Amino acid sequence: MKEAKLLGFETLQIHGGAQPDATTGARQIPIYQTTGYVFKDVEHAAALFDLKEIGYIYSRLTNPTIAALQERIATLEGGIGTVCCSSGHAAQIMALFPLMQVGKNIVVSRRLYGGTITQFSQTIKRFGWEAKFIDFDDMDAVASAIDADTQAVFCEGISNPGGHLIDIPAVAKIADQAGLPLIVDNTTATPYLCNPIEMGATLVIHSTTKYLTGNGTVTGGCVVDSGKFDWSASGKYPSLSEPEEAYHGLKFHETFGQYAFTLHSIAVGLRDLGMTMNPQAAHYTLLGIETLSLRMQRHVENALSVAQWLEKHPAIENVSYAGLKSSPQSHMQRTIYPKGAGALFCFSMKDGYNSCVRLVESLELISHVANLGDAKTLIIHSASTTHRQLSPEQQVSAGAGPNVLRISVGIESVEDIIDDLDQAIAEATKV
Ligand SMILES: *Cc1c(COP(=O)(O)O)cnc(C)c1O
Repeated sequence: MKEAKLLGFETLQIHGGAQPDATTGARQIPIYQTTGYVFKDVEHAAALFDLKEIGYIYSRLTNPTIAALQERIATLEGGIGTVCCSSGHAAQIMALFPLMQVGKNIVVSRRLYGGTITQFSQTIKRFGWEAKFIDFDDMDAVASAIDADTQAVFCEGISNPGGHLIDIPAVAKIADQAGLPLIVDNTTATPYLCNPIEMGATLVIHSTTKYLTGNGTVTGGCVVDSGKFDWSASGKYPSLSEPEEAYHGLKFHETFGQYAFTLHSIAVGLRDLGMTMNPQAAHYTLLGIETLSLRMQRHVENALSVAQWLEKHPAIENVSYAGLKSSPQSHMQRTIYPKGAGALFCFSMKDGYNSCVRLVESLELISHVANLGDAKTLIIHSASTTHRQLSPEQQVSAGAGPNVLRISVGIESVEDIIDDLDQAIAEATKV
């Protein structure tokens, strides 16, 4: 077979990380539902524990089903290694853990998934870490937010809310000039629409809960490493460059070179934080990824049709989809995200809060759900749900004003999605 880099995306999403099972010939990757692995002898066990040999010890660290998924995602993202974990939020902590120390900060985009805003503004404070929320449309603001204690730059490529596009190459340039790793959350774009590593990102994270699995069955997350960052150059990343006590003073970067981040994430991150993916979840996600390109093509096609239909509807005030010709981001979409602007966007009703409530309650096919990236079309009225604790001013600045709905367009027949919206809007605006 050709080398992986010569194979097409559609081939790799099916064959990446997969081989017929050596013992049984099973063609699909088996679910290795086991916690332990028998050592060949004591010497073999010792070598595994000392990281002198890489192999299976215990499923908190590694498991063959999860290893297949890790290899597949790394291949699709153009990275050299991936660590899977129990959720997208776990992946965010796993990405930051080797980079951070008490008193250090990260410069992050203001446009992030709501749960990430909470994780970064509240929970990480307890670790002594700080996030500085910046408008990533303003590159000068990003550059000037970086200080001597900044350890990383973080953004979503196609971001919440509203599918706003971030100029990843421009952000990567600023991170690079500051000698910092750029972490991109590629959940809403997927590697089919966007390859952040090609655009200069150091690490890519995913909530595999969303498009990669694609059917709303299991939570999961992952961190992909480009292998391109020099963790020893600045002395800012001692977890990777300095001796690790728990491994007899081993220096991860010196010993493992470009695999330092991935091996540290397994040998220290998963070992001690324990945010491990389970093999069943890996199985569902592996099945989902086999059809990623087909689903994303359909997601994007449907999203564009729905956005164009909404844009013309007299009851609709605004549609935020970057794939629309009328979008201020249309140029960026064509140059940076040429395969499409994803399938997540917001629209606002001319009538306010109550019409949105009536709309979500009148839908029949489309579900009112907090998830996204499912085969099914999902909608949420943020002001009455995810953003209800915020003041009206905060809701508006978060892009979740009282008259705003967020839609994650699925892969059903587009006529049926539009028909359902049509009848629900009629119901919502009835006097
Ligand atoms: C859902 C989501 C997350 C969090 O992932 P979980 O799997 O729910 O923990 C992070 N980022 C984005 C963009 C998401 O959509």
